[in-house]
Amino acid sequence: MADWVQEEAARQAKLSGYSALKQARLRPVLESCLRAGRAEGLREAADRQCEWCEDDDGVWHTGCGHAFWFDSDGPVENLQKFCGYCGGNLIARALADETPDSGQGD
Ligand SMILES: [Zn+2]
Repeated sequence: MADWVQEEAARQAKLSGYSALKQARLRPVLESCLRAGRAEGLREAADRQCEWCEDDDGVWHTGCGHAFWFDSDGPVENLQKFCGYCGGNLIARALADETPDSGQGD
């Protein structure tokens, strides 16, 4: 069964106005371009980070401009790994450990 990439490649090949033979040659090229673009989008989403900072009242302010309040504790204790607003990897900055990231790196 054709997935959306195959369908889109076929559509674009048709738009090219080439002969059926040329279209058949063009389709796999278009498919790989489409798949590469999609992989790029997924990689961006995986890399996104959202820093949540706790304020004096225990309200967590997200890096993407929202606020969240937990009944108890913070995102780490509540096993939150991703920001529910932007989908980024959640980086928790609790009030108690305000020290900046150790900066060990990749
Ligand atoms: Zn966010």
